[in-house]
Amino acid sequence: MRSPIDHLSSRFAIDPAPLETVAARYPVRISPHYLSLIQEPGDPIWLQCVPDPRELDDDQLPDPLDEERLSPVPGLIHRYPDRVVWLVSNDCAVFCRFCMRKRRLGQPLPEPRESREAVLGYIASRPEIRDVILSGGDPLMLSDAELEAILSALRGIPHVELIRIGSRLPVTLPQRITPHLCAILKKYHPLYLNTHFNHPLEITPQAAQACALLADAGIPLGNQTVLLKGVNDDPATMTLLMQRLLAIRVRPYYLHQMDLVQGTGHFRTSVACGVGIMAALRGHTSGLANPYYVIDLPGGKGKVPLLPETVRREGGGLVITTYTGEVVEFEDI
Ligand code: SF4
Repeated sequence: MRSPIDHLSSRFAIDPAPLETVAARYPVRISPHYLSLIQEPGDPIWLQCVPDPRELDDDQLPDPLDEERLSPVPGLIHRYPDRVVWLVSNDCAVFCRFCMRKRRLGQPLPEPRESREAVLGYIASRPEIRDVILSGGDPLMLSDAELEAILSALRGIPHVELIRIGSRLPVTLPQRITPHLCAILKKYHPLYLNTHFNHPLEITPQAAQACALLADAGIPLGNQTVLLKGVNDDPATMTLLMQRLLAIRVRPYYLHQMDLVQGTGHFRTSVACGVGIMAALRGHTSGLANPYYVIDLPGGKGKVPLLPETVRREGGGLVITTYTGEVVEFEDI
């Protein structure tokens, strides 16, 4: 089978050598579905999946969020008191060039069975853990049987109230969302799925069908978007993305400020850019279309919402700016 780089170099008559150099450091994978969405070099789909020499010219840390330090057993991140993130796979249908876990992509997991037992033992021993987020890589890259074994083991722990899955496969490999998979997932409610659309071009009929199957199985769908320079860092693109997500029954949840991860610096925008986009969304489109704009602070300090500067204290009251720019005084208690 031809590699994605061979495919791109023959389709667009580009020199593959610089891409191969980057691929030697950061692996490349692009599903045929995602590859088919590229219209031209440098477009928003291309930027997200095709290697870029600027990845090698970035001296940030591979793990600025300190996930490895916050890992009590391999594969588990315990940052907040009542919830954990379980990295069940290092595999994805597309290796996104901006990935916050770029350091792990394509790496083999250590002894999956042993590490799975260690993670389940840790969760079972901590009654304060009520929310387990399956992440990776992409959890839906596991087989149906592997996934069901994990879900069923988690449901056997009485204090685990909520299971969440983070998956980009509805975007990058929508064919993976089958009726059989949905029949498995719906046995383990309450189960939520957060997916990851970054651009309106990703909302294809196939992606919409994948989300419809999940929603029809009673799975609440949310979306986490990353603010990416050259991809979605303008109000018009972001507004269209949020509106189209609602049309396919996916609720915008987070807009992430880019993490300071090594090899991804060329995607970073200013916080002012994100605040401006949020201000453009607020009031101008449905409230449901407004995600939280968050920054995950380096050093494992956690997520903080970044709000447009709408409210300031003045004297004994508040001064609030409406979406039309009108300034209203509000007497606070
Ligand atoms: S699908 Fe998610 S985990 Fe996989 S490469 Fe993309 S951003 Fe990273």
